[in-house]
Amino acid sequence: MTYKQIVIQAGREKPIRNQHPWVFSGAIASTRGNPTAGEIVEVISHKGDFLARGYWNAKSQIQVRLLTWQDEHINNDWWRAIIMRAVTARKLENWRQAHQHDPHGYRVINAESDYLPGLVVDRYGEWLVLQALTLGIDQRKKQIVELLVEVFATLGIPVKGVYERSDVDVRKKEGLALTAGLLYGEEPPAKIPMTREALIRLVDVRNGHKTGYYLDQLGNQEYLPEFLMSVDMEENVKLLNLFSYTGGFGLATAAHVTNVDASHDVLQLAEETYQLNHFEGHDAEFVQANAFDFLRDQVAEGVQYDVIVCDPPKFAQNTRQVEGAARGYKDLNLHSFKLIKAGGYLMTFSCSGAITRDLFQKIVFGALADTGRQAQIIRHLSAGADHPVALTFPEGEYLKGLLLRVY
Ligand code: SAH
Repeated sequence: MTYKQIVIQAGREKPIRNQHPWVFSGAIASTRGNPTAGEIVEVISHKGDFLARGYWNAKSQIQVRLLTWQDEHINNDWWRAIIMRAVTARKLENWRQAHQHDPHGYRVINAESDYLPGLVVDRYGEWLVLQALTLGIDQRKKQIVELLVEVFATLGIPVKGVYERSDVDVRKKEGLALTAGLLYGEEPPAKIPMTREALIRLVDVRNGHKTGYYLDQLGNQEYLPEFLMSVDMEENVKLLNLFSYTGGFGLATAAHVTNVDASHDVLQLAEETYQLNHFEGHDAEFVQANAFDFLRDQVAEGVQYDVIVCDPPKFAQNTRQVEGAARGYKDLNLHSFKLIKAGGYLMTFSCSGAITRDLFQKIVFGALADTGRQAQIIRHLSAGADHPVALTFPEGEYLKGLLLRVY
C-alpha cells in the first residue's frame, strides 16, 4: 500500500514529531500525487523521513488530521483497535462493580484527546450519539458506526441505535453541511432516561444542546452534593443554579434550587426531570431569564444564597473575543459574590478554550476585589474522567472551574 505524500516545510515538523494532531496549510511545502478529500495520506519531512499518517482535506485550514505516528496502515483493524481502546478506557467493569449498574451517560470518544480527531461519541442509555466534526470522519461514518456496534456488543453492552448530531457550525470550516438523524437501529425516544447513581436525567438527543447533555459537567454535578454534605450543608440550603440547562447541578442537592436559564425548552425538561426525581426536602423553581439581568435584580432586592453555581455558555470563540468574554465573566462573578452569604460557596466555570485557567482565576479575583469580600479556593474543577485531555493536545482542555468559599 502506498500513500500520497504531504511534505512538511523545513523547521515546521516539530509539533508533528511531538504528536500534535493538526497539520495546518502553512506548514505544508508540497503535496505529491494530488490526494482526494478524506484520503489517508503520509506526512513526511522535507528530507523525506516518515512522520505520520492522517486524513486529508484541502478545504480546511487544518489540511491533515493525524491518526498515527507509526508506520502502520489505517485500515478497518486500526479503526476497530482505537475505538476499542477508547471504549474500554472508560472502565465500565469497575463502574458496574461499584454501582451495580451501567453508567448510562458518558463520553465514549473524545475526539483529538482520544487520538480520533473529529469524532465525538456519547452514550445515553442504549443509544449512542455521534458527532462527525471533520470531512475525514464524515466519510467514514458508516464504518465507524459498524465498529462501535461491534465493540459494544463484544463488551456485552446493548446498543439500540446510533443517532447523529453533526449540526455544528465547525463543520462549515471543513466544507460540510450540517446534518442530524438516525444512522443505525431504532429511533431514540423523545427523552432518554439517563441513570447515574440514584438519579435519572432526561436527555433529548434530537433537540438538546451538544449531543443532548453537558456530559463534561456530570462529574461536577455529582461532586456538589457530596461536597455540601461534607460541610454540613445538607438541609435548608438555598442554591442558585445560573445557566441551569436541564438543572443538573441542583438535582442531587437537598436544597431549595432556583434554576435560571434563558431557554424555555430546557427549563421545561428541567422541571420534568425534577418531578421524576422528587425527594423529601428538595424543591425547585425554574426561572426563564437572562442571567445577567436576573443577578442585578436579585442584588437590588437584597436576596442571599448559600450556594451559587455559575456555568455560562462559551463567551470567547477565539482569542480575539477574550477581552469581551472577560468582561462577561467578571460581571457574572461580581454579582454572584454579592449574593452569597458569608460562609457560602460559589462554583464558577468557564468553558471558553481561549480563556486559560490562569486568566479565569485572575478574572474571578478581579470580581472579588471589587466587592471587598474574601474567598478561598477549595478545589480546581475540570471535565470528568470520560473527557480526557491528551497531553499532546492542550487545546482539549476547555472547561475550568473553581469551587470557592466566600466570606
Ligand atoms: N450548567 C449546565 C450547562 C449550561 S450550558 C449543565 O450542567 O447542564 C449554558 C446554558 O446557558 C444553556 O442552557 C443556555 O440556554 C443558557 N444561556 C445562554 N445565555 C444565557 C443568558 N444570557 N442567560 C441565561 N441563560 C443563558
